[in-house]
Amino acid sequence: MIIDTVVYSFDPRNAPAARVDSGAILSFRTKDCFSDRIGSENQLINDLDLSLGMNPATGPVYVEGACPGDILRVDILDVVPAGRGVVCSIPGCGPLHDTAETRTRVLETENGFAEFNGVRFALDPMIGVIGCTPAEPIPTGWVGDHGGNLDCKLVKKGASLYCPVYVAGALFQLGDVHAVMGDCELCGTGLEIPAVVTVRLTLMKGRSIPYPVLETQEKWYTLAHAKTYDEAVTLTAGAMQQLLMQAYGWDATDAFLYLSLQGDVEICQACVPCSIDMILRCGVPKQPGRPLL
Ligand code: CA
Ligand code: CA
Repeated sequence: MIIDTVVYSFDPRNAPAARVDSGAILSFRTKDCFSDRIGSENQLINDLDLSLGMNPATGPVYVEGACPGDILRVDILDVVPAGRGVVCSIPGCGPLHDTAETRTRVLETENGFAEFNGVRFALDPMIGVIGCTPAEPIPTGWVGDHGGNLDCKLVKKGASLYCPVYVAGALFQLGDVHAVMGDCELCGTGLEIPAVVTVRLTLMKGRSIPYPVLETQEKWYTLAHAKTYDEAVTLTAGAMQQLLMQAYGWDATDAFLYLSLQGDVEICQACVPCSIDMILRCGVPKQPGRPLL
């Protein structure tokens, strides 16, 4: 099954694009964050009519039996970008914006590589916008406790994202694929590109988490967002502390001490100044036979 309906909000009133059972494998055809409307380097972000919104997501998908308080496990089976990618500087956005013109660069992608001014580098496709729909509508360009515009470069093929479920059916959706992006997304855009994303959706009944949790080949990560680093690091480390306490039976102090030894706090997106929150992740190594979820 391939889904190509695009929406600009996580909104419980959005009609499902598909209904599936837990365990279903399905594909999403995604548009880039500009709804594929930038075709040349002569087009600047200022020229776009953004009244519809940014960062369209494909979906939503209704998962039969999903209820508020469950977790939806999303195994990312493949992320296949297609064609050209676009990177833009955005007026007033990112720590170096004072030094930069508003510029669009269009990069061809071929055989897993792109080239920028003669410098060639490997693509590492990732999903920028992903999550289940919260009870209150939120634009797809924003980040929230549900996920949304997480811009975490580890949300890619081979990883699993565990998403809190807030409404009946979960109403899962994703979009905003980047062919490649650095941590922090300094100028506010990755290599924005249309793609086809294939996932398996599995319901975990009766398990709940406050924020999305990511499982990679090597690590577990909690993801959290806030306006400032102080708030974001407290939320993301606190979420990992809770996971460790529940999974390992530790008290808060031991979880705190262990996090100082084995927990890495990393930046997903923090292109300050920016109108959306920064997103941090806190990761700990996986231990054989001792999953955190
Ligand atoms: Ca994004
Ligand atoms: Ca993006």
